[in-house]
Amino acid sequence: MGQFMINLTSKYLLMIEPQSDATAPVEDRLSEKADEALASTFKGVSFRGFHHCICGERSGSSDLILPNGVITNSLMAHYVRYHRDEVPDTEINKLRELLCQRRDIILQLSRRMVLRMVEALDGKEVDQCAIDSISEEIKRQAMQQTE
Ligand SMILES: [Zn+2]
Repeated sequence: MGQFMINLTSKYLLMIEPQSDATAPVEDRLSEKADEALASTFKGVSFRGFHHCICGERSGSSDLILPNGVITNSLMAHYVRYHRDEVPDTEINKLRELLCQRRDIILQLSRRMVLRMVEALDGKEVDQCAIDSISEEIKRQAMQQTE
């Protein structure tokens, strides 16, 4: 077993070790979001060997870093899907919070994107209300997609 650990502090996400076998997968928005969060990570420090979940699923041999600097591991989506009943509330809340942060980033980007589009169109004449209403529409759609 690698140098794995259980850590529920804010610097980490889903650093847990389930104690019971896998359940039927929970397929919901939270599981989807765990997949997305996992896909947004990059590799951090490697540790020796591999960690195995109690059900046999094997993790990668390095920490994974989320864009906000929080450290997680390659089994995080597996835990959310197959060991949901053992995922502590602290970790569920962190995942939810992370999704809100991502939504905020999308909102900021959408506004910047609209401003750049207007610039590209040399739209110095375009009034601010038009820019705001386009931004609002993009925000609405981005929020629907990330709820
Ligand atoms: Zn497992």
